Amino acid sequence: MTVTLGFSKHRDPLAEYLIGSAKAAIIRNAPEGTVVEVKSIIKNEAAPKKKPGLDLGFEEISGVRHIIGIASGKGGVGKSTVSVNLAVALARLGYKVGLADADVYGPSVPKMTATEGLMPDAFQEGEKEVIMPLEKYGVKWMSIGYFAKPEQALIWRGPMACNALKQMILQVRWGELDFLLIDMPPGTGDIHISLVHDIPMEGAVIVSTPQDVALADVEKGVNMFRNESVNKPIIGLVENMAWFTPAEHPDEKYYIFGQGGGIRMAEKYGIPLLGQIPIVQSIREGGDSGEPAALSSRPDGLAFVGLAEKVASNTL
Ligand code: ADP
Repeated sequence: MTVTLGFSKHRDPLAEYLIGSAKAAIIRNAPEGTVVEVKSIIKNEAAPKKKPGLDLGFEEISGVRHIIGIASGKGGVGKSTVSVNLAVALARLGYKVGLADADVYGPSVPKMTATEGLMPDAFQEGEKEVIMPLEKYGVKWMSIGYFAKPEQALIWRGPMACNALKQMILQVRWGELDFLLIDMPPGTGDIHISLVHDIPMEGAVIVSTPQDVALADVEKGVNMFRNESVNKPIIGLVENMAWFTPAEHPDEKYYIFGQGGGIRMAEKYGIPLLGQIPIVQSIREGGDSGEPAALSSRPDGLAFVGLAEKVASNTL
């Protein structure tokens, strides 16, 4: 049995998923022994396309000098906030920067950069499908969020999520870059191991908050990268929400999640503490409005610039 699915755009990560699910649904319901073939075509195109599949090489990342994973042991510690602001701060320092938002559970780059609703261009080049990143604030952005509605993120699981993530990185025309940051999904599961295995990352930056529970999660993150089968260096730790500073008293620091957790953890694992980012209203507002705090010359903006300097000097 042959089924043809028509897509209105060139293949995007969702198409891979739809082809797989269509096939699974037919196999489940067709009489045993039925041979099932699912083809995909682009609407208005007469001939069926060649077999769908992930035939991704490393050509699109061959011009990238440093690929860095941004990881956290758990969600909600500000990993995406740090990733977006670090990318903007590196660009402010004159580096060529890209960010691939691989957080399947909650892609936040579109919102944090006010690029929601935009659809990256895609085109066919020979056998290959190429996706163009969006550009804003001097950074090239790519996110799984450009291809799926927020409620769809929940369906990204297992091998499908891994494939979509790899496309998000390997099919994108990044061009020449000094840094490609990969905002990884929170946690330390199979998706992470597969991602770290298949993408030639140079190392990882781990984001945490000073709370003990978050720091216990750092241990999981560190162990994941130091695991024998992964074995990637950890470039350093970022302590996010290190202290609270009220907008009206910029010189005051309140250690609401405890003090010194980041430095203790960095020492324990022998990794540099790359930066401490305060919890301030303007960072949250920057995330919500799509104008990252790192664009500003306020103390919070400069904290990200300092972090960017450290990341650059620890990798270049
Ligand atoms: P994660 O990617 O780890 O799940 P997010 O980056 O999405 O976390 O951050 C979670 C929430 O916390 C967001 O609303 C974000 O704006 C806010 N946030 C993160 N870091 C800070 C900070 N340093 N100061 C103020 N708000 C922050």
